Amino acid sequence: MPTYVYRCDDVCDDFTQRHPMADIPDAASCPGCGRDARRVIGAPALGAGESSAMRLHDATRSTADSPAVVTNVPGRRRKTTPVSSNPLHRKLPRP
Ligand SMILES: [Zn+2]
Repeated sequence: MPTYVYRCDDVCDDFTQRHPMADIPDAASCPGCGRDARRVIGAPALGAGESSAMRLHDATRSTADSPAVVTNVPGRRRKTTPVSSNPLHRKLPRP
């Protein structure tokens, strides 16, 4: 549900309420004085880009657009030294 800003005509501060888009009241009761407060048309919530969910979304999108180049499978390392020095062990079947 989106958040809507309401402004009281008295000296009260603006306040926000969440309503479904299909049922947006033009006025809401002010929590400070109890009078009706008008809905204010404001800027879209561009600051949501600072949230961790938006950072994750941006990172996921950038990965899809330009994936990182890797040289091996992450989490697996090549073993540089053989486990056994017996040459016959190299002929055994591998899993
Ligand atoms: Zn008020």
